[in-house]
Amino acid sequence: MKINGKEKDFATIIKKKYGKGIAKCTTKELYDTLLETVKELAKEKESNEGKKKLYYISAEFLIGKLLSNNLINLGIYEEVKETLKENGKDLADLEEYEAEPSLGNGGLGRLAACFIDSIATLGLNGDGVGLNYHYGLFKQVFEKNLQKETPNPWITEDSWLNKTEKTYEVNFGGFKVKSKLYDIDVVGYNNRTTKLHLFDIDTVDESIVGETIDFDKEQIEKNLTLFLYPDDSDDKGRLLRVYQQYFMVSNAAALIIDEAVEKGSNLHDLADYATIQINDTHPSMVIPELVRQLQEKGLLMDEAIEIVSKVCAYTNHTILAEALEKWPIAFLDKAVPQLMPIIRELDNRIKGKVKDESTYIIKDGLVHMAHMDIHYGYSVNGVAYLHTEILKNTELNNFYKLYPEKFNNKTNGITFRRWLMECNPELSALITELIGDGWKKDANELEKLGNFVNDDDVLNKVLDVKHQKKVELKNYLKATQNIDINEDSVFDIQVKRLHEYKRQQMNALYVINKYFEIKEGKLPKRPITVFFGAKAAPAYVIAKDIIHLILCLQQIIEKDPKVNKYLKVVMVENYNVTLAEKLIPACDISEQISLASKEASGTSNMKFMLNGAITLGTMDGANVEIAELVGDDNIYTFGESSETVIKRYEDASYVSKDYYDEDEDLQKAVDFIVSKELLKVGCKENLERLYNELLNKDWFMTFPDFKDFVETRDKVYEDFEDRKAWAKKMLINISKAGFFSSDRTIAQYNDEIWKLK
Ligand SMILES: *Cc1c(COP(=O)(O)O)cnc(C)c1O
Repeated sequence: MKINGKEKDFATIIKKKYGKGIAKCTTKELYDTLLETVKELAKEKESNEGKKKLYYISAEFLIGKLLSNNLINLGIYEEVKETLKENGKDLADLEEYEAEPSLGNGGLGRLAACFIDSIATLGLNGDGVGLNYHYGLFKQVFEKNLQKETPNPWITEDSWLNKTEKTYEVNFGGFKVKSKLYDIDVVGYNNRTTKLHLFDIDTVDESIVGETIDFDKEQIEKNLTLFLYPDDSDDKGRLLRVYQQYFMVSNAAALIIDEAVEKGSNLHDLADYATIQINDTHPSMVIPELVRQLQEKGLLMDEAIEIVSKVCAYTNHTILAEALEKWPIAFLDKAVPQLMPIIRELDNRIKGKVKDESTYIIKDGLVHMAHMDIHYGYSVNGVAYLHTEILKNTELNNFYKLYPEKFNNKTNGITFRRWLMECNPELSALITELIGDGWKKDANELEKLGNFVNDDDVLNKVLDVKHQKKVELKNYLKATQNIDINEDSVFDIQVKRLHEYKRQQMNALYVINKYFEIKEGKLPKRPITVFFGAKAAPAYVIAKDIIHLILCLQQIIEKDPKVNKYLKVVMVENYNVTLAEKLIPACDISEQISLASKEASGTSNMKFMLNGAITLGTMDGANVEIAELVGDDNIYTFGESSETVIKRYEDASYVSKDYYDEDEDLQKAVDFIVSKELLKVGCKENLERLYNELLNKDWFMTFPDFKDFVETRDKVYEDFEDRKAWAKKMLINISKAGFFSSDRTIAQYNDEIWKLK
């Protein structure tokens, strides 16, 4: 590797620092040295190029561990790995030593992480802006088949955070705080380094948190950046979220103005220097806050609003009504009284010219954040083709009629550095052996793999890699969670946040159905391992009941000697990016079974496809685009269409009991939730609540799709046995995954929204 133009090698750096060889160093010594070295190399690639700058503001950045990723992006991964190996050390041990930053929750945060990787990789002038949560979301542990939440500290002496001198004063109602900025380098793949800016305050007091995630929610100076998404089941928690959001955007606005002025902006021309992507509604207050700060700098309200409307763009991530944030005026009056007059002004201007009351920002004492984004942003985008169509035609149709020109689609993507090169070096090597390494910079080159779909030798190699990754996962889960799995079973995986619309409960019903079949002597040709990984929001009662059901099933099946040879349920604890990187390369069948119309895009569907798993899914989110790309023979789809589902909601015609009464298998599966066997290992209250929820409501319509799901899934297992035909499907999936590179997504954001040079 070259540092400051001088050729250096890792061994010499170590020798100089510790006076001994690599072989004699501890993991910590090696890790610390690599951390320093990478930071130095990253710094060399910093650049101030580009007049206009993008600020990607997001409450979450689920970045995952950074060491290996940064080594890959700097082009020194192989060199370091080899040097360590020659000295009897394993890079994997350093990876294990690193703590995973816990700055995100699920897909939205992981998307933000993929995006900043691609922004740097494309050499664009853009940074991420968010918060430095000390305890992250939470760490999930299982106790008595229930989810328990504990703090997830990740900030250590040797973290990737770099303390900066930047600080701003942020005013809240009745008090103010001083912010402190920490940066994490975002190293592009063979390109520039950009920044993830994480704001924090010095007065945060970790000691107010004990074993659980409970803490005094009213001591804002002590708790402001402790947790991502503090429990919002009470007003204090909800208010804390407002404080956090304002803190994030007030700092962001100040930073943006500072950097623009430094580059020569007179603020009247701010739109030539800055563009803001508002990732979901958590950063929406940046709109009134930027207006406020511009006014403070002497601009008049009219001009400030005009400028902000040329700077801000909004990404919508969901059509679930309960997820679109609406804050009571009273909350904003208390936490950020200086913003309310501006929000009122923004609303009055709409009320003065728009007739459709449904689009107003303030209604019934609530401030509708997304409405503010759409009226005052210059772009509104959905995150997959189907999702954007639903926004335009249904969910946001009233807005679409007002501003058709603002609406656009940006189908999500994932970074292939982390989700192929890092997590599956074996498959990467095979691909490179077949088509060269051009795909690493241009993902569309993966299409060339299409030339090998009838090459038996290649198909066998594809299967060999999959088998190797299954063995690795088996070993990893044994070592870390003491779980035993059979690498020759089919690996059927559903990993994602727990939500009723994602329908883990339907997957569980399938498992129960299979359990009965096996008991009755209808045996699968090959053992099946059904993996789940999912955190439930601490206040989401039914989601936690579903986890409870899955854990109970895991226990019952494990203990049943007649069934456990053929079926195994594995619910991994604390699903995170690190686990995703182990699970995804080992997967045979990717479960993407959300209720059609409800999953905006999904991104794990893309990660799985890229690693040669076959999708079993509904025609929802980006599954639609996957199906289009790979063709019917290479994906398994089932279930009702989004049109049918949307119509059912519109006419409120769905009665779950009707389906239950008519399908004997479904009845048996649902009844099992409250059977003697389950009550023996589980809690009556949780199981009965879930049972009643399904029987009397089933809001996400698992019953109408159940039969089709069972039949399609059984067909998948059958097809799996034709190993050659299956390998061909795998290769076709990999070859068509190029479209889902986040480099493509970011190039589109830039061409059509940001327009950075
Ligand atoms: C990709 C990813 C997600 C998103 O998964 P979906 O199935 O798209 O919801 C969530 N969590 C982690 C850790 C991920 O890597």
